[in-house]
Amino acid sequence: MDSRLVVLGSSGAWPGAGHACSGYVLEHRGFRVVLDFGYGTVGPLLTLLDSHAGDGVDAVVVSHAHADHMGDLHAFYRARWFGARTAPPIPAFAPPQVRDQLWAVESIDGPDDGAIDRVFTWHKLPAAEYTVGPWRLESADLPHYVPNAGVRLVSDDLVVAYTGDTGPSPVLAELGRDADLFIVECTDYTQLAEPKKEQLHLNARTAAEAARDAGAKRLLLTHFWPGVDRERTARDVAEIYDGEVLVAREGLVVGL
Ligand SMILES: [Zn+2]
Repeated sequence: MDSRLVVLGSSGAWPGAGHACSGYVLEHRGFRVVLDFGYGTVGPLLTLLDSHAGDGVDAVVVSHAHADHMGDLHAFYRARWFGARTAPPIPAFAPPQVRDQLWAVESIDGPDDGAIDRVFTWHKLPAAEYTVGPWRLESADLPHYVPNAGVRLVSDDLVVAYTGDTGPSPVLAELGRDADLFIVECTDYTQLAEPKKEQLHLNARTAAEAARDAGAKRLLLTHFWPGVDRERTARDVAEIYDGEVLVAREGLVVGL
């Protein structure tokens, strides 16, 4: 397994035509982590895995409980529960609200029989530090409408950081410090005719400043509001950030 990141979805809020919402597969040293499960990510994930049951995922990380980051966590849960019930649970790292929201969907089938705790073992984010396969998983609370954990995965030869959803914050420079790949939300409302309030999301300028201040080697822009001109966003970013700028799209493979 080569070290790589595969984009499952790149839209914020709702999928938009031809897109899915936030989701990424990170593969390194034979260990596969899924970062976020936005709307429409599980079909492509199962294709990548070549497994209807979702076999081959070693850990999951969910940044926060908004549905554009975890709507398909329930789909993945179902793949495991109906397709691989006797398999060992998968470690899941997430703010506690993520389990609550998963249960809110699942609970229509009756009282809690522990199924979501047999599919996943839950580990709270943010937290001091976890060892996850070849990674040291660090995390930080970032400003958003609900608790959101930015994550930083550190191995002895690679650093990958991911913001989830965030407003501007000095913490971003530490989260992405010298990262080989910094995955940064760039909702970029500012392109819209009637810009929405965006204190708790990033735009081209604030995303670029975060990557620049972190000294990140490569920046992957993602979580675009549907309808945003992504190439225009990337050009705006490149005026502030000198490193390589990548624009997320479904199926993009980033070698690491
Ligand atoms: Zn959000």
